[in-house]
Amino acid sequence: MERTLVIIKPDAVLKGLVLDVKTRYILQEMKLQRSVTRVLDLHTASLLYAEHRGQFFFEGLVLAMVSGPCHVMVLSGRNVICRVREMNGPTRDAPSGTIRGDFPSAGGPFNIVHGSDSPEAVLREIGILFPKLCTDE
Ligand code: UDP
Ligand code: MG
Repeated sequence: MERTLVIIKPDAVLKGLVLDVKTRYILQEMKLQRSVTRVLDLHTASLLYAEHRGQFFFEGLVLAMVSGPCHVMVLSGRNVICRVREMNGPTRDAPSGTIRGDFPSAGGPFNIVHGSDSPEAVLREIGILFPKLCTDE
């Protein structure tokens, strides 16, 4: 069974959207393996988005990620990496029916959710946010 890492970003947590967003995944037969609400520190947020270091939006993204609590989840299910990304919607101009489209935000780094984009990213991101989960299995 495949796993993925999802982060409900601080803007969505502050708007009280955790339950609504989480329920969408669970209704699609994805199993919640771990979930925790926590405030990321600058180091952790920078590590998480290291692939974007040097991009014009990197600093704003990292600051947005530490601006309040995140709700971090590990989901499992068939083809869950791809299915979560489809449910989340594209980075920009997400259509209605997707999570990013249905819960509009200020845009840029404030786009409600993060989902890992590959099996390698899942391992790396779970390693950063749930290190014990990696060594246990
Ligand atoms: N982002 C941004 N401006 C951009 C591109 C990305 O603020 O021009 C933010 C946005 O919040 C996005 C995150 O950086 O979700 C990571 O970018 P990525 O290209 O990995 O998009 P995602 O995989 O989240 O759709
Ligand atoms: Mg990405």
